[in-house]
Amino acid sequence: MKTIRGTKDILPHEITSWQSIYKTAYKILDLNNYKEIRTPVIENTKLFERSIGNLTDIVNKEMYSFNDQGNRSITLRPEGTASIARSVISNKLYINQPINRLWYMGPMFRYERPQQGRQRQFHQLGIECIGSNMPIADVEVIKIAIEILTKLQCEKEYELEINSIGNQEERKKYCQDLIEYLKKYENDLDEDSKKRIYKNPLRILDSKNLNTQEILQSSPILKNYLQKNSKKHFESICDHLSYLKIKYKINNYLVRGLDYYNHTAFEIKTKTSKQQNTICGGGRYDTLFEQIGGPHIPAVGWAIGIERLLLLKEKNFSHTDTIYIAIQSIDNNNHMIWKIIDLLKEYKIKFELDISNYSLKKQIKKAYQLNIKICFILGENEMNDNFITVKWLQTGIQQQIKILDLRKYIKYLQKQLQS
Ligand code: ATP
Ligand code: MG
Repeated sequence: MKTIRGTKDILPHEITSWQSIYKTAYKILDLNNYKEIRTPVIENTKLFERSIGNLTDIVNKEMYSFNDQGNRSITLRPEGTASIARSVISNKLYINQPINRLWYMGPMFRYERPQQGRQRQFHQLGIECIGSNMPIADVEVIKIAIEILTKLQCEKEYELEINSIGNQEERKKYCQDLIEYLKKYENDLDEDSKKRIYKNPLRILDSKNLNTQEILQSSPILKNYLQKNSKKHFESICDHLSYLKIKYKINNYLVRGLDYYNHTAFEIKTKTSKQQNTICGGGRYDTLFEQIGGPHIPAVGWAIGIERLLLLKEKNFSHTDTIYIAIQSIDNNNHMIWKIIDLLKEYKIKFELDISNYSLKKQIKKAYQLNIKICFILGENEMNDNFITVKWLQTGIQQQIKILDLRKYIKYLQKQLQS
């Protein structure tokens, strides 16, 4: 039997990368006073219909919904923000604390066509800064996304795009004019966009179709519909980003696939030409809480797609910090190995003891395959004369270290591995 289409097992050799992302994110988020929250994977279908919006792709065609045995309509969450807003309201988290800084990491479900970087069960890491309408909150969350991506060593490979989609009124006026304009070209638009003209014209701005993009070139621009407050909010964010030397590109056509956003919308894209190149999407959502029956609470957040992040980082999460120990099987019992292992443990150095009983040559080959940097070799000569051979696999350099000097050497290795 296979996994269900669009879902994947995360196998033991892949899990280190996941743990490393969790750990890195945790450290940065903890420092910024963000608290983890875990909400159920299933929610009432209504929650997503009301928040994400009935006319969006997610709700319209991508939701995993079913009726449970009590005939309630249940949906596997397609994203995290709506559930968190629901949780903040139903647990009244906003009462004791005007500001809630929250983060989550977990599986999301969308019925999409599976392809590279697009699954039906995928994972997101996300944060929500809830309770502030200040532009500085938008900047805080963007800065944290950049910090996390930088720490995960993606800094040279991404681009931040940002836009303001104004408030509801401004958008309404804009949409009317956009529809008027697009109507003239209705027959030349791509099929998806044709369907969206009257239902969700904003999404057309996002079209990847070249013809449609050309038509959009001379369409009205949302920016020109923004009033003083919206403009001020956006300019303030740009000003802070410039001060922080966070590079950004204003993209007048950037809109998000969810209805609840207002003012700020942003995406972090990788510079590769791959199709699924957006790793992080986010924005401000000041009306979501009211939309689902709560009080007025302004908020801003983002979500990073973990699978896409991993595609990008495939090579960097390797076993370079593990020491591989190749050992020759011998007849008489030699206990030297335990001394070595205890020392490695004492200095908190990860190790893998090869217990395959293969030849030393084959064991070292395995270490190469695992992208290991340092291999300890414990053959017959070594055991007889109380030393080990250390092989640096990237350079091929070999050293012989006496067991008596091993502590000193391992202390030195610890520093090398940390740098
Ligand atoms: P896209 O335009 O790629 O469909 P989206 O706008 O639907 O993205 P969001 O809802 O903003 O995506 O989700 C944030 C991030 O989650 C995306 O940038 C992406 O990295 C990831 N993501 C979204 N859908 C999927 C999916 N089906 N499989 C894997 N990752 C996904
Ligand atoms: Mg999508």
